[in-house]
Amino acid sequence: MQNLRLASIFREMADLLEVKGESVFKVRAYRRAAEQLEQLPEDLADVVRSGGIERLPGFGQALVAKAREFVATGRVEAHQRLLAEYPAQVLDLLKVPGLGPRLAERLHRELGVGGLDDLEQAARDGRLRTLRGMGPRAEEKILAGIEALRRQGARRSIGEVLPQARWLQAGLERLPAVERAVVAGSLRRWKETVKDADLVVVTSTPAELVASLRAQGLAQEVGGGEDRVAVVLPTGLKADLRLVEAVHFPSALHHFTGSKEHHVLLRERARRMGLSVSEYGLARDGGTPDPLASEEELYGRLGLAFVPPELREGHEELELAEQGALPVLLGRDDLKGDLHVHTDWSDGRASLEQMVEAARARGYRYLAVCDHSPAVRVAGGLSPERLLAQIERIERLNRTLEGFRVLVGTECDILADGTLDYPDELLERLDWVVASIHSRMGQDAETLLARYRRALESPWVDAVGHPTGRLLGRRDAMEVPVEGLVELAARRGAALEINASPERLDLDSRWARVAAQAGVRLVVSTDAHHPEHLDFIEYGVGIARRAGLGPAQVVNAWDEKELLGWIRARREAARRPPPA
Ligand SMILES: [Zn+2]
Ligand SMILES: [Zn+2]
Repeated sequence: MQNLRLASIFREMADLLEVKGESVFKVRAYRRAAEQLEQLPEDLADVVRSGGIERLPGFGQALVAKAREFVATGRVEAHQRLLAEYPAQVLDLLKVPGLGPRLAERLHRELGVGGLDDLEQAARDGRLRTLRGMGPRAEEKILAGIEALRRQGARRSIGEVLPQARWLQAGLERLPAVERAVVAGSLRRWKETVKDADLVVVTSTPAELVASLRAQGLAQEVGGGEDRVAVVLPTGLKADLRLVEAVHFPSALHHFTGSKEHHVLLRERARRMGLSVSEYGLARDGGTPDPLASEEELYGRLGLAFVPPELREGHEELELAEQGALPVLLGRDDLKGDLHVHTDWSDGRASLEQMVEAARARGYRYLAVCDHSPAVRVAGGLSPERLLAQIERIERLNRTLEGFRVLVGTECDILADGTLDYPDELLERLDWVVASIHSRMGQDAETLLARYRRALESPWVDAVGHPTGRLLGRRDAMEVPVEGLVELAARRGAALEINASPERLDLDSRWARVAAQAGVRLVVSTDAHHPEHLDFIEYGVGIARRAGLGPAQVVNAWDEKELLGWIRARREAARRPPPA
């Protein structure tokens, strides 16, 4: 966890330096170093001791010195100095939509705003508008932004929480007092956003376990009692540990996986059968509970097929389980390729060849390279000439590959009026076209829907990327009526994306379910900008499973021939004039 702790110090320093107005290179260096640390498989202390730290990409002398200092003293002096200049709460200001580091610095310096509460007060008192360049409208926007932030509360992306929960799980399993530790709760149900982590821990010596939590650096705060321990991880994440004996593990795991709604239905069903369900097992007529050997046994004794955690939401899963009609859900291994990745031709951080290597290493059979189009200038969108050059490069690369195919693709911008950022003659040459909105996201619902309608009039648009445009914790979804988009996609035979990037998770499971029910195909993609990002796919698979999707409904679960056949057929159908 030292790795993650130093990474979060570096990230905080990057943000503070940005507020301070330091050079972008310095800021970026800290962010890159943080990323390196987050992906470092070895223990930071070992890497420092062996001198390997100096060979980490991006670690110059100054950063190496800070890593050494951190391992030796547990802190970084330069970090402390920054915190003396700006309270850490100033960084909360950056979470307000539209509020950048420049403005945060001025708010702090000129108005003494040190956090969200101060900011809200200053906006309500009309003090914000005294800043040069600010007016009543900006004040209103900031208030709305604060409110949106508060509404989201403390929910975080599963992509942020799950790796930490797994780290805790691994740490627990190394303790002599622990027989077994398993992640439960909404994380096990792959809920897109979660408040905290729940783990079920098998131990026969709870006191010893509690004592070693802090000693082993697994938690910075430990509270609670005999069978339930609340801990705060070094990263600040809260986790609830349920301590159980081995004999109660299956029923406890089921109990602490939830959801509440699922359990209400299950208990109701049990009651009608003269049974009662608890974290200790299944009891008849108020007797002592029988322990269960597995979750399967619990469902079996209630006359039900096993309900996968992702479907335990209190919808219609019990009826389906009773009829043996639960869907066979998509699995990670069903996926044959990723159909939305970037390379360093636009804003990706790895070469085309590196991305292909990474995809092959993950057992994929194809990969669609979808760099940005010219309108996304900050992301180095490809001019038509550059795209043609890339097509040629990919064709050459394909001739050297066996059992693997790189698809020439694009993430083509849908411009403000709904036209596409590349001409038809160019789109026609591509194997796979994802069309996405990256600008003017504040348009009203009607305009946005018309924009998608116009884009989907093109027969070449195979999929719509990150359809609602939300960025978790940073930007709300666009006002586009998703039902309307689903209807358009159904009519035009285009797929909708489940973007698995932890900051997007878009479509979410609720909308993915609606889309599938309307007969729309989904595509689970990572939008990877780095080889490691290909592993985000598990979050997309989680969403697909929560939506009840099986391989037949997800186009990248199909082999290359089937996929290309589908694309050809859908483009042909989309080119036919609509019936009069
Ligand atoms: Zn995009
Ligand atoms: Zn993208």
